[in-house]
Amino acid sequence: MESFDYVIVGAGSAGSVLASRLSEDNKTTVCVLEAGPSDWHPFIHIPAGFMYTLVNPRVNWLYSSEPSEWTGGRRIAAPRGKTLGGSSSINGHIYNRGQRLDFDGWAQRGNRGWGYADALPYFRRTENRMASANDADPTFRGSDGALPITDLEWRDPLCEAFIEGAVQMGIPRNKDYNGTQQAGVSYVQRIIRNGRRVSAARGYLHPAMGRPNLSVRTHAHASNLILEGKRAVGVRYLKGGKGGTPVEVRATKEVILCGGAVNSPQLLQISGIGPAPLLKSLGVEVKHALAGVGENLRDHYAPRFVARVKDAETINEKSKGIPLVREVLKYAFGRQSILALNPTLIYVFWKSDPNVENYDLQFTFTPASYKEGVQSTLDDFPGMTIASWQQRPDSTGYVRAKTADPFAAPIIQPNYLAAESDRRVLLAGMKIARKLISSQPLQKFYEREEFPGSEKQSDDELLTAAKQRGTTTFHLMGTCRMGPENDPTSVVDDQLRVRGMQGLRVVDASIMPTMPSANLNASVLMIAEKAADMIRGKAPLEAVKLAD
Ligand SMILES: Cc1cc2nc3c(=O)[nH]c(=O)nc-3n(C[C@H](O)[C@H](O)[C@H](O)COP(=O)(O)OP(=O)(O)OC[C@H]3O[C@@H](n4cnc5c(N)ncnc54)[C@H](O)[C@@H]3O)c2cc1C
Repeated sequence: MESFDYVIVGAGSAGSVLASRLSEDNKTTVCVLEAGPSDWHPFIHIPAGFMYTLVNPRVNWLYSSEPSEWTGGRRIAAPRGKTLGGSSSINGHIYNRGQRLDFDGWAQRGNRGWGYADALPYFRRTENRMASANDADPTFRGSDGALPITDLEWRDPLCEAFIEGAVQMGIPRNKDYNGTQQAGVSYVQRIIRNGRRVSAARGYLHPAMGRPNLSVRTHAHASNLILEGKRAVGVRYLKGGKGGTPVEVRATKEVILCGGAVNSPQLLQISGIGPAPLLKSLGVEVKHALAGVGENLRDHYAPRFVARVKDAETINEKSKGIPLVREVLKYAFGRQSILALNPTLIYVFWKSDPNVENYDLQFTFTPASYKEGVQSTLDDFPGMTIASWQQRPDSTGYVRAKTADPFAAPIIQPNYLAAESDRRVLLAGMKIARKLISSQPLQKFYEREEFPGSEKQSDDELLTAAKQRGTTTFHLMGTCRMGPENDPTSVVDDQLRVRGMQGLRVVDASIMPTMPSANLNASVLMIAEKAADMIRGKAPLEAVKLAD
Protein backbone atom coordinates (compact mmCIF):
# COMPACT_ATOMS: atom_id res chain seq x y z
CA MET A 1 0.00 0.00 0.00
CA GLU A 2 1.30 3.47 -0.85
CA SER A 3 1.99 5.58 2.17
CA PHE A 4 1.96 9.33 2.86
CA ASP A 5 2.17 11.41 6.01
CA TYR A 6 -1.22 12.97 5.28
CA VAL A 7 -4.11 11.89 3.09
CA ILE A 8 -6.57 14.68 2.33
CA VAL A 9 -10.02 13.80 1.00
CA GLY A 10 -11.32 16.60 -1.24
CA ALA A 11 -9.45 19.35 -3.11
CA GLY A 12 -12.05 22.06 -2.50
CA SER A 13 -11.67 25.37 -0.70
CA ALA A 14 -10.23 23.83 2.44
CA GLY A 15 -8.43 20.89 0.83
CA SER A 16 -6.55 23.16 -1.58
CA VAL A 17 -5.28 25.39 1.23
CA LEU A 18 -4.22 22.45 3.37
CA ALA A 19 -2.49 20.59 0.56
CA SER A 20 -0.49 23.68 -0.24
CA ARG A 21 0.43 24.53 3.34
CA LEU A 22 1.29 21.00 4.49
CA SER A 23 3.48 20.32 1.45
CA GLU A 24 5.49 23.53 2.03
CA ASP A 25 7.67 21.34 4.22
CA ASN A 26 9.49 19.19 1.69
CA LYS A 27 9.97 16.39 4.23
CA THR A 28 6.20 15.98 4.57
CA THR A 29 4.37 13.83 2.03
CA VAL A 30 0.78 14.63 1.13
CA CYS A 31 -1.77 12.83 -1.03
CA VAL A 32 -4.97 14.59 -2.09
CA LEU A 33 -7.94 12.56 -3.37
CA GLU A 34 -10.45 14.51 -5.44
CA ALA A 35 -13.56 12.77 -6.79
CA GLY A 36 -14.00 15.27 -9.63
CA PRO A 37 -11.87 16.09 -12.67
CA SER A 38 -9.20 18.72 -13.13
CA ASP A 39 -10.41 22.30 -13.37
CA TRP A 40 -9.39 22.95 -16.96
CA HIS A 41 -12.84 23.94 -18.27
CA PRO A 42 -12.93 27.62 -19.34
CA PHE A 43 -16.40 28.10 -17.82
CA ILE A 44 -14.86 27.54 -14.38
CA HIS A 45 -12.58 30.51 -14.92
CA ILE A 46 -14.83 32.94 -16.79
CA PRO A 47 -17.02 34.47 -14.07
CA ALA A 48 -20.28 34.20 -16.04
CA GLY A 49 -19.56 30.48 -16.47
CA PHE A 50 -21.26 30.24 -13.07
CA MET A 51 -24.56 29.73 -14.89
CA TYR A 52 -23.11 26.71 -16.68
CA THR A 53 -21.24 25.06 -13.81
CA LEU A 54 -24.32 25.44 -11.62
CA VAL A 55 -26.05 22.70 -13.57
CA ASN A 56 -23.17 20.69 -15.03
CA PRO A 57 -22.81 17.16 -13.62
CA ARG A 58 -19.13 16.95 -14.63
CA VAL A 59 -18.07 19.53 -12.07
CA ASN A 60 -21.03 19.56 -9.71
CA TRP A 61 -22.51 16.92 -7.41
CA LEU A 62 -25.96 18.33 -8.23
CA TYR A 63 -27.52 17.40 -4.92
CA SER A 64 -30.94 18.55 -3.88
CA SER A 65 -32.56 18.95 -0.50
CA GLU A 66 -35.59 17.08 0.78
CA PRO A 67 -38.99 18.75 0.50
CA SER A 68 -40.30 20.50 3.60
CA GLU A 69 -43.27 22.54 4.78
CA TRP A 70 -41.66 25.95 4.29
CA THR A 71 -40.38 25.21 0.82
CA GLY A 72 -43.94 24.38 -0.17
CA GLY A 73 -42.95 20.74 -0.62
CA ARG A 74 -40.27 21.65 -3.17
CA ARG A 75 -36.84 20.08 -3.40
CA ILE A 76 -34.23 22.79 -3.71
CA ALA A 77 -31.07 22.35 -5.72
CA ALA A 78 -27.94 21.98 -3.58
CA PRO A 79 -25.04 22.34 -6.01
CA ARG A 80 -21.55 21.43 -4.70
CA GLY A 81 -18.33 21.75 -6.64
CA LYS A 82 -16.75 18.50 -7.85
CA THR A 83 -13.42 19.45 -9.36
CA LEU A 84 -10.11 20.91 -8.19
CA GLY A 85 -11.13 23.91 -6.11
CA GLY A 86 -14.44 22.24 -5.17
CA SER A 87 -17.20 24.76 -4.55
CA SER A 88 -14.71 27.64 -4.88
CA SER A 89 -14.53 26.67 -8.58
CA ILE A 90 -18.28 27.00 -9.12
CA ASN A 91 -19.28 29.62 -6.57
CA GLY A 92 -20.39 33.23 -6.98
CA HIS A 93 -16.83 34.58 -6.41
CA ILE A 94 -17.88 36.86 -3.56
CA TYR A 95 -15.61 37.59 -0.66
CA ASN A 96 -17.48 38.19 2.60
CA ARG A 97 -16.25 37.32 6.07
CA GLY A 98 -19.13 37.99 8.42
CA GLN A 99 -19.25 39.79 11.72
CA ARG A 100 -17.02 39.82 14.76
CA LEU A 101 -19.81 38.33 16.87
CA ASP A 102 -19.91 35.20 14.67
CA PHE A 103 -16.46 34.02 15.67
CA ASP A 104 -16.62 35.41 19.19
CA GLY A 105 -19.74 33.24 19.47
CA TRP A 106 -17.73 30.17 18.45
CA ALA A 107 -15.18 30.95 21.18
CA GLN A 108 -17.91 31.59 23.75
CA ARG A 109 -19.21 28.09 23.06
CA GLY A 110 -15.93 26.75 24.39
CA ASN A 111 -13.88 26.59 21.20
CA ARG A 112 -10.55 28.01 22.33
CA GLY A 113 -8.67 30.10 19.81
CA TRP A 114 -11.61 30.72 17.46
CA GLY A 115 -12.65 34.24 18.50
CA TYR A 116 -12.55 36.98 15.86
CA ALA A 117 -9.23 38.36 17.10
CA ASP A 118 -7.71 34.87 16.65
CA ALA A 119 -9.34 34.29 13.26
CA LEU A 120 -8.44 37.69 11.83
CA PRO A 121 -4.72 36.99 11.17
CA TYR A 122 -5.78 33.90 9.22
CA PHE A 123 -8.37 35.81 7.20
CA ARG A 124 -5.59 38.25 6.37
CA ARG A 125 -3.20 35.45 5.47
CA THR A 126 -5.50 34.16 2.73
CA GLU A 127 -5.89 37.43 0.85
CA ASN A 128 -4.21 40.02 -1.27
CA ARG A 129 -6.64 42.89 -0.92
CA MET A 130 -6.32 44.87 -4.10
CA ALA A 131 -7.88 48.21 -3.29
CA SER A 132 -6.77 51.79 -3.23
CA ALA A 133 -4.46 52.38 -0.26
CA ASN A 134 -7.10 54.42 1.54
CA ASP A 135 -9.62 51.61 1.51
CA ALA A 136 -7.57 48.71 2.84
CA ASP A 137 -7.16 48.99 6.61
CA PRO A 138 -4.22 46.68 7.47
CA THR A 139 -5.80 45.80 10.82
CA PHE A 140 -8.39 43.87 8.87
CA ARG A 141 -6.98 43.33 5.40
CA GLY A 142 -4.05 41.29 4.14
CA SER A 143 -1.84 42.19 1.22
CA ASP A 144 0.33 39.18 0.46
CA GLY A 145 -2.01 36.19 0.50
CA ALA A 146 -2.77 33.78 -2.34
CA LEU A 147 -6.19 35.14 -3.27
CA PRO A 148 -6.70 38.54 -4.92
CA ILE A 149 -9.72 40.36 -3.51
CA THR A 150 -10.80 42.99 -5.98
CA ASP A 151 -13.58 45.54 -6.13
CA LEU A 152 -16.33 45.30 -8.67
CA GLU A 153 -15.66 48.01 -11.24
CA TRP A 154 -18.91 47.60 -13.18
CA ARG A 155 -21.22 50.59 -12.91
CA ASP A 156 -24.68 50.98 -14.40
CA PRO A 157 -27.65 53.25 -13.80
CA LEU A 158 -29.72 50.60 -12.04
CA CYS A 159 -27.01 49.75 -9.53
CA GLU A 160 -26.25 53.41 -8.87
CA ALA A 161 -29.96 54.16 -8.34
CA PHE A 162 -30.30 51.17 -6.05
CA ILE A 163 -27.46 52.41 -3.85
CA GLU A 164 -28.89 55.91 -3.82
CA GLY A 165 -32.25 54.46 -2.77
CA ALA A 166 -30.66 52.54 0.10
CA VAL A 167 -28.87 55.67 1.27
CA GLN A 168 -32.16 57.60 1.18
CA MET A 169 -33.63 54.86 3.40
CA GLY A 170 -30.94 55.59 5.98
CA ILE A 171 -28.54 52.77 5.06
CA PRO A 172 -25.04 54.26 4.80
CA ARG A 173 -22.47 53.41 2.16
CA ASN A 174 -19.78 51.15 3.57
CA LYS A 175 -16.41 51.27 1.87
CA ASP A 176 -15.33 47.92 3.33
CA TYR A 177 -17.87 45.43 4.65
CA ASN A 178 -14.92 43.18 5.56
CA GLY A 179 -13.40 45.95 7.69
CA THR A 180 -14.43 47.58 10.94
CA GLN A 181 -18.10 46.83 10.43
CA GLN A 182 -20.31 45.01 7.99
CA ALA A 183 -23.45 47.17 8.02
CA GLY A 184 -24.30 49.36 5.04
CA VAL A 185 -24.57 49.21 1.28
CA SER A 186 -21.76 48.65 -1.22
CA TYR A 187 -20.63 46.94 -4.37
CA VAL A 188 -19.37 43.41 -3.73
CA GLN A 189 -15.76 42.35 -3.26
CA ARG A 190 -14.76 39.40 -5.39
CA ILE A 191 -12.04 36.77 -5.82
CA ILE A 192 -11.53 37.66 -9.47
CA ARG A 193 -8.43 39.09 -11.12
CA ASN A 194 -8.15 40.30 -14.70
CA GLY A 195 -11.65 39.01 -15.44
CA ARG A 196 -10.93 35.47 -14.25
CA ARG A 197 -11.99 33.53 -11.17
CA VAL A 198 -9.25 32.67 -8.71
CA SER A 199 -10.49 29.53 -6.97
CA ALA A 200 -8.72 28.00 -3.99
CA ALA A 201 -7.21 25.55 -6.48
CA ARG A 202 -5.85 28.37 -8.66
CA GLY A 203 -4.61 30.38 -5.68
CA TYR A 204 -3.20 27.58 -3.54
CA LEU A 205 -3.17 24.14 -5.13
CA HIS A 206 -1.85 24.64 -8.67
CA PRO A 207 1.21 26.63 -7.56
CA ALA A 208 2.09 23.69 -5.25
CA MET A 209 1.40 20.86 -7.68
CA GLY A 210 4.97 20.70 -8.98
CA ARG A 211 6.26 19.70 -5.54
CA PRO A 212 7.56 16.11 -5.49
CA ASN A 213 6.10 15.55 -2.00
CA LEU A 214 2.52 16.36 -3.11
CA SER A 215 0.40 13.89 -5.08
CA VAL A 216 -2.96 15.22 -6.32
CA ARG A 217 -5.27 12.55 -7.75
CA THR A 218 -8.40 13.49 -9.67
CA HIS A 219 -11.26 11.06 -10.43
CA ALA A 220 -10.37 9.50 -7.06
CA HIS A 221 -13.61 8.95 -5.15
CA ALA A 222 -12.97 8.09 -1.49
CA SER A 223 -15.32 5.26 -0.57
CA ASN A 224 -14.24 4.39 2.99
CA LEU A 225 -11.87 5.33 5.73
CA ILE A 226 -9.52 2.53 6.74
CA LEU A 227 -9.69 2.21 10.50
CA GLU A 228 -7.63 0.16 12.94
CA GLY A 229 -9.57 0.27 16.17
CA LYS A 230 -10.09 3.96 16.92
CA ARG A 231 -7.33 5.11 14.58
CA ALA A 232 -7.72 6.22 10.96
CA VAL A 233 -4.82 4.76 9.02
CA GLY A 234 -5.79 5.39 5.43
CA VAL A 235 -8.43 5.80 2.77
CA ARG A 236 -9.90 3.46 0.19
CA TYR A 237 -10.85 5.09 -3.10
CA LEU A 238 -12.05 4.17 -6.54
CA LYS A 239 -9.65 5.24 -9.23
CA GLY A 240 -11.74 6.48 -12.14
CA GLY A 241 -14.86 6.91 -9.96
CA LYS A 242 -17.85 4.58 -9.96
CA GLY A 243 -16.92 1.11 -11.22
CA GLY A 244 -13.23 2.08 -11.08
CA THR A 245 -10.30 0.22 -9.57
CA PRO A 246 -10.21 0.11 -5.75
CA VAL A 247 -6.99 1.58 -4.35
CA GLU A 248 -5.84 2.05 -0.76
CA VAL A 249 -3.51 4.77 0.48
CA ARG A 250 -2.07 4.83 3.95
CA ALA A 251 -1.69 7.91 6.16
CA THR A 252 1.10 7.53 8.68
CA LYS A 253 0.13 10.73 10.47
CA GLU A 254 -3.43 11.76 9.66
CA VAL A 255 -6.40 11.45 7.39
CA ILE A 256 -7.97 14.88 6.87
CA LEU A 257 -11.52 15.14 5.57
CA CYS A 258 -12.14 18.20 3.38
CA GLY A 259 -15.14 16.82 1.47
CA GLY A 260 -17.48 19.67 2.43
CA ALA A 261 -20.63 19.87 4.55
CA VAL A 262 -22.45 17.13 2.64
CA ASN A 263 -19.75 14.61 1.79
CA SER A 264 -17.59 14.68 4.93
CA PRO A 265 -20.39 13.52 7.25
CA GLN A 266 -21.54 11.01 4.64
CA LEU A 267 -18.05 9.48 4.39
CA LEU A 268 -17.78 9.27 8.18
CA GLN A 269 -21.19 7.60 8.41
CA ILE A 270 -20.55 4.96 5.75
CA SER A 271 -17.17 4.28 7.35
CA GLY A 272 -18.84 3.46 10.68
CA ILE A 273 -18.44 6.78 12.52
CA GLY A 274 -21.73 8.47 13.35
CA PRO A 275 -25.08 8.06 15.12
CA ALA A 276 -25.35 4.35 16.01
CA PRO A 277 -29.07 3.97 15.10
CA LEU A 278 -28.45 5.52 11.66
CA LEU A 279 -25.42 3.32 10.96
CA LYS A 280 -27.34 0.20 12.01
CA SER A 281 -30.23 1.13 9.74
CA LEU A 282 -27.72 1.36 6.87
CA GLY A 283 -26.21 -2.02 7.74
CA VAL A 284 -22.89 -0.35 8.56
CA GLU A 285 -20.87 -1.72 11.46
CA VAL A 286 -20.59 0.88 14.22
CA LYS A 287 -16.86 1.50 14.64
CA HIS A 288 -17.29 4.66 16.67
CA ALA A 289 -20.65 6.00 17.82
CA LEU A 290 -20.79 9.79 17.44
CA ALA A 291 -24.28 11.23 17.61
CA GLY A 292 -23.59 14.60 15.99
CA VAL A 293 -22.20 13.42 12.65
CA GLY A 294 -24.47 14.90 9.97
CA GLU A 295 -26.61 16.92 12.40
CA ASN A 296 -26.71 20.74 12.78
CA LEU A 297 -27.01 21.39 9.03
CA ARG A 298 -27.81 25.03 8.27
CA ASP A 299 -28.17 27.14 5.17
CA HIS A 300 -29.35 30.62 4.24
CA TYR A 301 -32.81 30.63 2.67
CA ALA A 302 -33.52 33.56 0.36
CA PRO A 303 -36.82 34.73 -1.09
CA ARG A 304 -36.59 37.15 -4.01
CA PHE A 305 -38.46 40.08 -5.44
CA VAL A 306 -38.28 40.51 -9.19
CA ALA A 307 -39.23 43.78 -10.89
CA ARG A 308 -39.71 44.48 -14.58
CA VAL A 309 -37.44 47.30 -15.74
CA LYS A 310 -38.17 50.11 -18.18
CA ASP A 311 -35.86 52.62 -19.89
CA ALA A 312 -32.65 50.78 -19.03
CA GLU A 313 -30.86 47.72 -20.34
CA THR A 314 -30.44 44.84 -17.91
CA ILE A 315 -28.18 41.80 -18.04
CA ASN A 316 -31.15 39.79 -19.35
CA GLU A 317 -31.10 41.56 -22.74
CA LYS A 318 -27.31 41.74 -22.87
CA SER A 319 -27.16 37.95 -22.60
CA LYS A 320 -28.82 37.15 -25.93
CA GLY A 321 -28.21 37.55 -29.65
CA ILE A 322 -26.11 40.46 -30.98
CA PRO A 323 -25.70 42.16 -27.58
CA LEU A 324 -24.15 38.93 -26.27
CA VAL A 325 -21.69 38.84 -29.18
CA ARG A 326 -20.75 42.40 -28.26
CA GLU A 327 -20.21 41.36 -24.62
CA VAL A 328 -18.03 38.41 -25.66
CA LEU A 329 -15.87 40.70 -27.79
CA LYS A 330 -15.57 43.22 -24.99
CA TYR A 331 -14.49 40.43 -22.64
CA ALA A 332 -11.96 39.14 -25.16
CA PHE A 333 -10.43 42.63 -25.38
CA GLY A 334 -10.28 43.02 -21.61
CA ARG A 335 -13.05 45.62 -21.41
CA GLN A 336 -15.93 45.68 -18.94
CA SER A 337 -18.35 42.94 -19.91
CA ILE A 338 -21.15 40.94 -18.34
CA LEU A 339 -18.94 37.87 -18.76
CA ALA A 340 -16.72 39.17 -15.97
CA LEU A 341 -19.60 39.73 -13.57
CA ASN A 342 -20.58 37.60 -10.63
CA PRO A 343 -24.21 36.64 -10.05
CA THR A 344 -24.85 39.50 -7.68
CA LEU A 345 -23.43 43.03 -7.69
CA ILE A 346 -24.51 44.88 -4.57
CA TYR A 347 -24.70 43.89 -0.92
CA VAL A 348 -26.72 45.44 1.87
CA PHE A 349 -26.35 44.41 5.50
CA TRP A 350 -29.05 45.71 7.79
CA LYS A 351 -31.35 45.07 10.75
CA SER A 352 -34.78 43.44 10.75
CA ASP A 353 -35.82 45.87 13.47
CA PRO A 354 -34.07 49.02 14.73
CA ASN A 355 -34.37 47.62 18.25
CA VAL A 356 -32.45 44.41 17.65
CA GLU A 357 -28.88 44.56 18.86
CA ASN A 358 -27.09 43.00 15.90
CA TYR A 359 -27.42 43.28 12.14
CA ASP A 360 -29.31 40.19 11.09
CA LEU A 361 -30.18 40.66 7.42
CA GLN A 362 -28.28 40.40 4.18
CA PHE A 363 -29.62 41.59 0.81
CA THR A 364 -28.25 41.16 -2.68
CA PHE A 365 -29.18 43.20 -5.72
CA THR A 366 -28.51 42.52 -9.36
CA PRO A 367 -29.79 44.11 -12.60
CA ALA A 368 -30.88 40.69 -13.90
CA SER A 369 -33.62 38.19 -13.14
CA TYR A 370 -33.90 34.45 -13.37
CA LYS A 371 -36.60 32.01 -14.27
CA GLU A 372 -38.02 30.05 -11.39
CA GLY A 373 -35.64 27.63 -9.68
CA VAL A 374 -31.89 27.76 -9.54
CA GLN A 375 -30.07 30.74 -11.09
CA SER A 376 -29.24 29.31 -14.47
CA THR A 377 -31.73 30.81 -16.94
CA LEU A 378 -32.40 34.51 -17.34
CA ASP A 379 -35.89 35.95 -17.86
CA ASP A 380 -37.01 37.06 -21.31
CA PHE A 381 -37.92 40.56 -20.09
CA PRO A 382 -35.70 43.32 -18.62
CA GLY A 383 -35.55 42.53 -14.93
CA MET A 384 -33.86 43.25 -11.63
CA THR A 385 -33.80 41.13 -8.49
CA ILE A 386 -33.34 41.61 -4.80
CA ALA A 387 -32.88 38.65 -2.48
CA SER A 388 -32.77 38.78 1.30
CA TRP A 389 -31.99 36.38 4.09
CA GLN A 390 -31.71 35.96 7.82
CA GLN A 391 -27.98 35.92 8.47
CA ARG A 392 -27.79 33.55 11.42
CA PRO A 393 -30.60 31.03 11.04
CA ASP A 394 -31.79 28.99 14.02
CA SER A 395 -33.36 26.23 11.90
CA THR A 396 -31.21 23.14 11.76
CA GLY A 397 -31.45 19.95 9.75
CA TYR A 398 -29.22 17.05 8.81
CA VAL A 399 -27.23 15.11 6.23
CA ARG A 400 -27.75 11.35 6.45
CA ALA A 401 -26.39 8.65 4.18
CA LYS A 402 -29.27 6.94 2.43
CA THR A 403 -27.37 3.71 1.89
CA ALA A 404 -23.82 2.49 2.49
CA ASP A 405 -23.07 3.07 -1.21
CA PRO A 406 -20.49 5.89 -1.45
CA PHE A 407 -21.97 6.95 -4.80
CA ALA A 408 -25.55 7.34 -3.56
CA ALA A 409 -26.57 10.95 -2.82
CA PRO A 410 -27.24 11.39 0.88
CA ILE A 411 -30.42 12.82 2.39
CA ILE A 412 -30.04 16.59 2.80
CA GLN A 413 -32.70 18.21 4.96
CA PRO A 414 -31.93 21.82 5.95
CA ASN A 415 -35.41 22.33 7.48
CA TYR A 416 -35.53 25.82 6.02
CA LEU A 417 -37.56 28.28 8.14
CA ALA A 418 -38.62 25.61 10.63
CA ALA A 419 -37.74 28.01 13.48
CA GLU A 420 -40.30 30.75 14.07
CA SER A 421 -37.48 33.26 14.63
CA ASP A 422 -36.25 32.64 11.07
CA ARG A 423 -39.68 33.29 9.60
CA ARG A 424 -40.02 36.51 11.60
CA VAL A 425 -36.67 37.89 10.43
CA LEU A 426 -37.32 36.69 6.88
CA LEU A 427 -40.63 38.57 6.74
CA ALA A 428 -39.03 41.75 8.02
CA GLY A 429 -36.33 41.32 5.38
CA MET A 430 -38.88 40.86 2.61
CA LYS A 431 -40.60 44.11 3.56
CA ILE A 432 -37.32 46.02 3.50
CA ALA A 433 -36.34 44.31 0.23
CA ARG A 434 -39.53 45.46 -1.45
CA LYS A 435 -38.85 49.04 -0.36
CA LEU A 436 -35.28 48.85 -1.61
CA ILE A 437 -36.22 47.61 -5.06
CA SER A 438 -38.95 50.22 -5.49
CA SER A 439 -37.14 53.16 -3.90
CA GLN A 440 -37.63 56.67 -5.25
CA PRO A 441 -34.31 56.80 -7.22
CA LEU A 442 -35.21 53.46 -8.90
CA GLN A 443 -38.73 54.60 -9.82
CA LYS A 444 -37.67 55.87 -13.25
CA PHE A 445 -36.62 52.30 -14.14
CA TYR A 446 -39.29 50.42 -12.19
CA GLU A 447 -42.19 49.22 -14.27
CA ARG A 448 -43.85 46.73 -11.94
CA GLU A 449 -43.22 43.94 -9.52
CA GLU A 450 -43.22 40.65 -11.44
CA PHE A 451 -42.84 38.41 -8.43
CA PRO A 452 -44.57 38.00 -6.07
CA GLY A 453 -46.68 40.93 -7.32
CA SER A 454 -47.46 44.16 -5.50
CA GLU A 455 -50.97 42.96 -4.61
CA LYS A 456 -49.34 40.41 -2.25
CA GLN A 457 -49.02 42.46 0.91
CA SER A 458 -50.04 40.46 3.95
CA ASP A 459 -47.59 38.41 6.01
CA ASP A 460 -49.30 35.23 4.86
CA GLU A 461 -48.97 36.21 1.22
CA LEU A 462 -45.31 37.05 1.65
CA LEU A 463 -44.61 33.76 3.41
CA THR A 464 -46.41 31.96 0.61
CA ALA A 465 -44.14 33.75 -1.88
CA ALA A 466 -41.12 32.67 0.17
CA LYS A 467 -42.39 29.10 0.05
CA GLN A 468 -42.98 29.28 -3.69
CA ARG A 469 -39.68 30.71 -4.83
CA GLY A 470 -37.32 31.01 -1.87
CA THR A 471 -34.08 29.26 -2.59
CA THR A 472 -30.69 28.29 -1.23
CA THR A 473 -27.79 30.70 -1.20
CA PHE A 474 -25.48 27.66 -1.31
CA HIS A 475 -24.19 27.95 2.26
CA LEU A 476 -24.53 24.45 3.70
CA MET A 477 -22.47 24.06 6.87
CA GLY A 478 -22.27 22.70 10.39
CA THR A 479 -22.61 18.92 9.95
CA CYS A 480 -19.41 17.99 11.85
CA ARG A 481 -19.76 20.71 14.39
CA MET A 482 -16.81 21.82 16.51
CA GLY A 483 -17.48 21.92 20.24
CA PRO A 484 -15.98 21.39 23.68
CA GLU A 485 -15.62 18.06 25.43
CA ASN A 486 -18.74 18.49 27.56
CA ASP A 487 -20.86 18.86 24.42
CA PRO A 488 -21.79 15.29 23.44
CA THR A 489 -23.22 16.29 20.04
CA SER A 490 -20.07 18.00 18.84
CA VAL A 491 -18.05 16.02 16.29
CA VAL A 492 -14.62 17.66 16.38
CA ASP A 493 -12.71 19.44 19.13
CA ASP A 494 -11.21 22.89 18.73
CA GLN A 495 -8.16 21.33 17.04
CA LEU A 496 -10.63 19.82 14.53
CA ARG A 497 -9.82 16.25 15.65
CA VAL A 498 -12.72 13.82 15.48
CA ARG A 499 -13.81 13.08 19.04
CA GLY A 500 -12.69 9.71 20.35
CA MET A 501 -10.65 8.94 17.24
CA GLN A 502 -6.97 9.26 16.45
CA GLY A 503 -5.34 10.36 13.24
CA LEU A 504 -8.56 11.88 11.90
CA ARG A 505 -9.58 15.51 11.42
CA VAL A 506 -12.30 17.33 9.56
CA VAL A 507 -11.36 20.67 8.03
CA ASP A 508 -14.13 22.26 5.95
CA ALA A 509 -17.46 24.07 6.20
CA SER A 510 -18.92 21.23 8.24
CA ILE A 511 -16.96 22.13 11.40
CA MET A 512 -18.65 25.52 11.80
CA PRO A 513 -20.68 25.47 15.03
CA THR A 514 -23.03 28.26 13.91
CA MET A 515 -23.64 30.12 10.68
CA PRO A 516 -21.41 33.13 10.04
CA SER A 517 -23.27 36.25 8.91
CA ALA A 518 -21.86 35.78 5.43
CA ASN A 519 -21.27 33.62 2.40
CA LEU A 520 -18.93 30.88 3.54
CA ASN A 521 -15.87 30.69 1.34
CA ALA A 522 -13.80 33.29 3.23
CA SER A 523 -14.42 31.52 6.54
CA VAL A 524 -13.59 28.09 5.11
CA LEU A 525 -10.28 29.44 3.82
CA MET A 526 -9.57 30.95 7.23
CA ILE A 527 -10.40 27.63 8.95
CA ALA A 528 -8.03 25.74 6.64
CA GLU A 529 -5.19 28.22 7.15
CA LYS A 530 -5.62 27.90 10.91
CA ALA A 531 -5.85 24.11 10.74
CA ALA A 532 -2.62 23.98 8.72
CA ASP A 533 -0.73 25.59 11.60
CA MET A 534 -2.37 23.24 14.11
CA ILE A 535 -1.47 20.17 12.09
CA ARG A 536 2.11 21.36 11.58
CA GLY A 537 2.44 21.98 15.31
CA LYS A 538 3.08 25.69 14.78
CA ALA A 539 2.05 28.30 17.31
CA PRO A 540 -1.09 30.14 16.16
CA LEU A 541 -0.59 33.58 14.63
CA GLU A 542 -0.80 36.31 17.21
CA ALA A 543 -4.34 37.48 17.91
CA VAL A 544 -5.12 40.99 16.67
CA LYS A 545 -5.71 43.65 19.28
CA LEU A 546 -9.13 45.07 18.50
CA ALA A 547 -10.83 48.04 20.02
CA ASP A 548 -13.93 47.07 22.05
C1 LIG B 1 -23.05 27.49 -6.42
C2 LIG B 1 -22.34 28.04 -5.19
C3 LIG B 1 -22.19 29.42 -5.05
C4 LIG B 1 -21.54 29.94 -3.92
N1 LIG B 1 -21.24 31.26 -3.87
C5 LIG B 1 -20.42 31.72 -2.90
C6 LIG B 1 -19.89 33.04 -2.94
O1 LIG B 1 -20.13 33.80 -3.87
N2 LIG B 1 -19.08 33.44 -1.92
C7 LIG B 1 -18.77 32.61 -0.87
O2 LIG B 1 -18.08 33.05 0.04
N3 LIG B 1 -19.26 31.36 -0.82
C8 LIG B 1 -20.02 30.88 -1.82
N4 LIG B 1 -20.42 29.57 -1.82
C9 LIG B 1 -20.05 28.73 -0.67
C10 LIG B 1 -18.58 28.31 -0.66
O3 LIG B 1 -18.04 28.26 -1.96
C11 LIG B 1 -18.47 26.95 0.03
O4 LIG B 1 -19.07 27.03 1.30
C12 LIG B 1 -17.02 26.51 0.21
O5 LIG B 1 -16.36 26.51 -1.03
C13 LIG B 1 -17.00 25.12 0.84
O6 LIG B 1 -15.68 24.71 0.97
P1 LIG B 1 -15.36 23.23 1.49
O7 LIG B 1 -13.89 23.10 1.48
O8 LIG B 1 -16.09 23.01 2.75
O9 LIG B 1 -16.03 22.25 0.42
P2 LIG B 1 -15.88 22.21 -1.15
O10 LIG B 1 -15.19 23.42 -1.67
O11 LIG B 1 -17.22 21.89 -1.69
O12 LIG B 1 -14.88 21.01 -1.40
C14 LIG B 1 -15.17 19.65 -1.20
C15 LIG B 1 -14.35 18.86 -2.21
O13 LIG B 1 -14.31 17.51 -1.81
C16 LIG B 1 -14.53 16.68 -2.93
N5 LIG B 1 -15.09 15.42 -2.43
C17 LIG B 1 -16.25 15.26 -1.78
N6 LIG B 1 -16.45 13.96 -1.48
C18 LIG B 1 -15.36 13.30 -1.92
C19 LIG B 1 -14.97 11.94 -1.90
N7 LIG B 1 -15.75 10.99 -1.34
N8 LIG B 1 -13.79 11.59 -2.46
C20 LIG B 1 -12.99 12.53 -3.02
N9 LIG B 1 -13.33 13.84 -3.09
C21 LIG B 1 -14.50 14.22 -2.53
C22 LIG B 1 -15.50 17.48 -3.76
O14 LIG B 1 -15.57 17.05 -5.10
C23 LIG B 1 -14.96 18.89 -3.61
O15 LIG B 1 -13.97 19.18 -4.56
C24 LIG B 1 -21.08 29.04 -2.92
C25 LIG B 1 -21.24 27.65 -3.06
C26 LIG B 1 -21.84 27.14 -4.19
C27 LIG B 1 -21.99 25.65 -4.34
